[in-house]
Amino acid sequence: MSLADATAEDHEALIQFLYLAPVGLVQTRLDGEIGMINPISAQLLMPLAPFGDLSNLFGALQGVAPDLRARVDAYPAPRGVICDGLRIQVSAGVPGRSDPQMLALTLVKLDSNRLMAVLSDITEQVRRERLARQNEAWLNAILTGVSDYALVSLDRDGRIDDWNDSIGRVTGFSREQVIGASYALFYPPGSMTPERVADRLAEADENGWSLDDGWRLKADGSRFWCSAMLAVLPESAGSTDRPAPADDAGYCLVLRDITDKRVKAEEHRRAISCDHLTGVANRRTFFELAELEFARWTRAPRPLSLLYVDIDHFKAVNDARGHAVGDAVLRDVALTLGTLFREVDVVARIGGEEFAVLLPSTGLEGAVTAADALRAAVAARSTMAEGGPVQVTLSVGVATMAPDVTGVDALLRRADEALYAAKRAGRNRVECWAT
Ligand code: GH3
Ligand code: MG
Ligand code: MG
Repeated sequence: MSLADATAEDHEALIQFLYLAPVGLVQTRLDGEIGMINPISAQLLMPLAPFGDLSNLFGALQGVAPDLRARVDAYPAPRGVICDGLRIQVSAGVPGRSDPQMLALTLVKLDSNRLMAVLSDITEQVRRERLARQNEAWLNAILTGVSDYALVSLDRDGRIDDWNDSIGRVTGFSREQVIGASYALFYPPGSMTPERVADRLAEADENGWSLDDGWRLKADGSRFWCSAMLAVLPESAGSTDRPAPADDAGYCLVLRDITDKRVKAEEHRRAISCDHLTGVANRRTFFELAELEFARWTRAPRPLSLLYVDIDHFKAVNDARGHAVGDAVLRDVALTLGTLFREVDVVARIGGEEFAVLLPSTGLEGAVTAADALRAAVAARSTMAEGGPVQVTLSVGVATMAPDVTGVDALLRRADEALYAAKRAGRNRVECWAT
C-alpha cells in the first residue's frame, strides 16, 4: 500500500469517525468560522442558530452562550482547554412536563488557528442529578426530628451505602459496622438468607415497597421488635415518562422499633397461625408459607427441602399412658423442633403426631443432616410425665425441590413416601425420597 493510499484511507476513517461519533464535533477557526461539523452538532445547533445559519459557532450559540467569543479571545495559551463541560441551557422546559434542555460544551484550542468544540446533550444527566438532589432532600426531611425510626439507604444489592445517626440511635451500630454490609446485618442469625434478601428487593421492585415485621438485632446482641419498610427510591420508581436505568436505582429501608406494641400484635398472630397444643405453626400456616416459598423457587430456583416427621408408635404411648401424657410428649417434641431449626425454617404440626419442616436455602445433604440431628435429639431425651419419663423416637422422610416437582403437595408426597420407607426400614430413621 502506498503512502498516498494510507493517507486517503486515514482521511476516510477520520470522516467516518466524525460522522458516527456519538457526540457533536465542530472544528472552527479562532473567530468561530466553522470548517467541519458532524451531523450531531448540526442537529444540536440548528434550532439555536439565528435563521439556521451554521457558518459560525459563536454566532450559532449567541442566544444561549453570548460570552464564548470573549472567552476564546481571553484565553492566553497557544493551545489548551478553554472550557470543559460548560453547561448551556438551551430551552426552559415546562415545570412538571418537560425538563430544560441542556448542552455541555468543551472547547479546545488546537493551535493558533483552530478550535475544536465537543457538544453533547446532557438533558437526561441533569434531570438525574436533580432527582438525586430531591432524594437527598426527601431523606433529610424525614430524618429530621424522628426518634424511633432508622433510615438506611441501600444499593441495588441490598448493601448499606448510606448512614444516618438514626441508625445508631435505634440499633446501636456504628457507621464503620454498617457501611457496605448487607442489610441482613440487622437480622438475628438464622432469620435471613441471601436469597431472601434478593426476594425482598425483588418484591420492592415490583410493588414499590415491601413490609415485614420481626425480631431484629442491635449491635449489643439484644433484640427489638421491628417493623421494616423497604421502599424503592423515587429515582428508580420511574416517576417520569423516562424510566431511569436500573443501575442507579437503590432502596430506602425504614426500621421502626415497635417492641412496645408488639405484644398485642404477636398474640393476635399466634392465635391465628399457631397450633394451639404445641405452639408451632399450624397446618394452614405451613401451606401458606410453603406456597410462598414454592412461588419464590419458581421465580428463581434455589435449594429448598422438606422434612416429614412422624412419631413412632405414638398410639402405644396414648394407650399405655393416657392422652394427657401423649399431649405432653407432643409438646416436648415440638419444643425440640423449635430449638433445632433456624428462624427461616418453617416448623409446623400438620397432623396428630406429624410435623413438617420446610428448609429454605437447604439442599438434600443439609436437610438430611438436620433431620438426623432432630432424630438423635428426640431419641436421646425423655418427657417427664406423671407416672415416669416417656421416651419416643421419630421417623423422618426428606425430599428436596427439583424441576419435576409440580407444587407443595407433590413435594410433601415425596417426603411422605420417604417417611413410609423409614417406617418400613424399622423406624427411628431418616430416609430420602428416591426415584
Ligand atoms: P407409626 O410408628 O406407624 O407412626 O405408629 P403410630 O402409632 O404413631 O401411628 P398411628 O397413626 O397409628 O397413630 C397415631 C396416633 O396419634 C393416634 C392418635 O390417637 C394419636 N393422636 C393424634 N392426635 C393426637 C393428639 O392431639 N394428642 C394425643 N395425645 N394423641 C394424638
Ligand atoms: Mg402418623
Ligand atoms: Mg406415628
